[in-house]
Amino acid sequence: MNQKKWRPATDRRNRLSNHSIPQRVLNIKLSLPPVLFYLDEIQRFEPKRESGWINSGLCPFHNDKNVGSFSVNLDSGAFKCFSCGTAGGDVIAFYRLKYCCDFMTALADLEGRCGLWR
Ligand SMILES: [Zn+2]
Repeated sequence: MNQKKWRPATDRRNRLSNHSIPQRVLNIKLSLPPVLFYLDEIQRFEPKRESGWINSGLCPFHNDKNVGSFSVNLDSGAFKCFSCGTAGGDVIAFYRLKYCCDFMTALADLEGRCGLWR
C-alpha cells in the first residue's frame, strides 16, 4: 500500500458543484477504500483482515491508550468505539467528527484525497 499522506483541505467545497451530492459521495466510496483511509487516520491501525468488522487502532475520539475498543468495518467504512461510544456509518461521518467540519467540507476534502479534482 503506497499512498500519500495528506492534510485536510479547506475552502474547496465548490470545486465539484456541478455533480450531485449523492454522485459525489458515491465517487468517494468508489475511490477511497476504507482500509487506506483508516491507515492514514488511526494510530496503530493494523488490519489483519481485508473485509468485515475489525478491532484495531486507537480511538481518535477519546484519550485511548490501548488498542481494543475501536472497531471499523472495512467494507462500509462504519466505525464504533466501545469505550466512548462514538460511532458512524462511513468515512465521511468519521471525517466530520475527527475534523469537526460540516458535511460539505468533508466531502470536498475527501474528494481532494481521492484525486477527484483532476
Ligand atoms: Zn473512543
